[in-house]
Amino acid sequence: MPTAPAATIRTQVLVPLRFADGYETTARVFTFDGLIDGQEHLAFGLGDRAAAVTSAGGGAVPLVRPHSECLTGDVFGSQRCDCGAQLREAVERIAGSGGYLLYLRQEGRGIGLYAKLDAYALQDIGLDTYEANLALGHREDERCYLVAAQMLQALGVSRVALLSNNPDKAWQLRRFGVAVAARVPTGVHLSATNAHYLATKARRGAHTLDVPLSAG
Ligand SMILES: [Zn+2]
Repeated sequence: MPTAPAATIRTQVLVPLRFADGYETTARVFTFDGLIDGQEHLAFGLGDRAAAVTSAGGGAVPLVRPHSECLTGDVFGSQRCDCGAQLREAVERIAGSGGYLLYLRQEGRGIGLYAKLDAYALQDIGLDTYEANLALGHREDERCYLVAAQMLQALGVSRVALLSNNPDKAWQLRRFGVAVAARVPTGVHLSATNAHYLATKARRGAHTLDVPLSAG
């Protein structure tokens, strides 16, 4: 079994958060040395995990969500996906029970921002989100969660309750040495414009979403 190469906490700093709907909380934002892909991934410690990390672990099993960066959804509220709503929900749920949001710089399921927008253009002429990635010469999903395992290890976390509907996240984290004690599903954020995307995710990615497959 592959184990994650060691990463270490580089800095940790408190950042007060305020979302567009007025929800507020404070996060302890961690940066790291030694992440294998050299990208600037962040961990947001929320709730009782906003306290300083001194030595390894202890306490309740934290609620953890690896969230893949989505500029259009997270920042601009794009309705082509549900990332912004997922992020907002995750922050409040994690703040409520204590844990970490891992903000992973994996735009467009790892294919990058421009390619994601190219894929949208292909979807507009009838391909689904997975077919569009393949047509662009990418795999359906290029995300690797090894850096997430490295970040958790650096934070002294070896067991998590995983806030995700994506079975691949649980499978990969286990493969990289993180014990997934529980899987906690996220809500479904359905809108007129993302219904087809969510149905495709449920059908093609084996996500545990309860959405009508004929939607869109
Ligand atoms: Zn998105």
